[in-house]
Amino acid sequence: MISLRAKNLKPSPTLALAAKAKELIAQGHDVISLSVGEPDWDTLECAKQAGRKAIDDGFSKYTPSNGIPELRKAIAAQTNADLKTDYTPDEVTVTAGGKFVIFAALQCAIDPGDEVIIPAPYWVSYPVMVELAGGTPVTAVCDETVNFKLTPEILQKHITPKTKMLILNSPSNPTGLMYSKEELAALAQVLRDHPRILILSDDIYNRLVFGGELAPHILQVAPELKPRVLVMNGASKTYAMTGWRVGWALGPQVWIKAMTNYQSQSVSQAASMSQKATLAAIEHGAPELKKAMTELSARKDRAVSLLSQVSGIQVANPDGAFYIWPDIRKLLGKSYKGKKLATSSDFSVALLEAQNVAVVPGVEFGLDGFVRLSFALKEPRMVEAMERIKKFVADLD
Ligand code: GLU
Repeated sequence: MISLRAKNLKPSPTLALAAKAKELIAQGHDVISLSVGEPDWDTLECAKQAGRKAIDDGFSKYTPSNGIPELRKAIAAQTNADLKTDYTPDEVTVTAGGKFVIFAALQCAIDPGDEVIIPAPYWVSYPVMVELAGGTPVTAVCDETVNFKLTPEILQKHITPKTKMLILNSPSNPTGLMYSKEELAALAQVLRDHPRILILSDDIYNRLVFGGELAPHILQVAPELKPRVLVMNGASKTYAMTGWRVGWALGPQVWIKAMTNYQSQSVSQAASMSQKATLAAIEHGAPELKKAMTELSARKDRAVSLLSQVSGIQVANPDGAFYIWPDIRKLLGKSYKGKKLATSSDFSVALLEAQNVAVVPGVEFGLDGFVRLSFALKEPRMVEAMERIKKFVADLD
């Protein structure tokens, strides 16, 4: 019954873990989920109001597949101000969530045999989406020796005549680390010599930056790459709108048009009221976002400080997003209840069983020996989670 394509398809591990945690909570277990990447604060008030108004006004029918013109205009204006670019609203497409933007972008640019370079650790769905487009994901491992970031040398090493695309994500899911302008300029230098390589810049965390307002971008340092860059972003993380499902892309007209056609033949569009809510968030959300970031930054400091007191765990201070990426390699080889913890998966399973704390194993992000923790949860619960992790580690043999 099932197609070859779907046969080996696994659910998204981040969403699956979050669902498992919710199920355990519903059964009465006191689980703290540090698994899914989702703000715990409510959708910005200005967005909620605009969404409600859209429903009351009857703005609940089909919109153009590429999104309502005023939203595309606002996205172009915001991106142009951020990146010093000159995108027009025709070079914008809006769709149902950032995830579908990436999916559609790959469907519209990748043919069988094409290779896509994905720096690891990477967001869990990139390789699967490349495969669903018929392409070959090429993992470029970027370990702690390069601070988990792609370097010109690593990039160069993974380029072949079949390379069609590079995916960049900064601040990164899962590490929270961010590329500096200099690092991006060095990557751009390599890309200049390979004009056929497209660049998908996943900017979904670009406004969730600590001690700054915006992440540096490859187009700021190499504007001449614009004809082959797809800038992708969305409302989910920035405006705490994960369930509203709005994402967008800006890029070369031919790529954007293909993505819009792909949308019009599949999901049609982003929900009409969600588009209105997103417009309000973009136009009026900055003060609320600033407040949320101040709180998030304090939680980040607390989480990093508590976790770095756990012996055997090493933590890097994230630059943005809401993830930390602790190194647990010193703990692998130890045992929990007589069972050896050989991998980050063993560690995560045992931690959930022993202390009811859900974290995502690093192996899902293409690099074992680490776990991903989201600290986007209320401080008392986050502190409690760190205490439970400390206890778990102390109990290991
Ligand atoms: N991007 C988020 C995460 O990594 C949400 C879940 C997902 O879509 O993967 O946790």
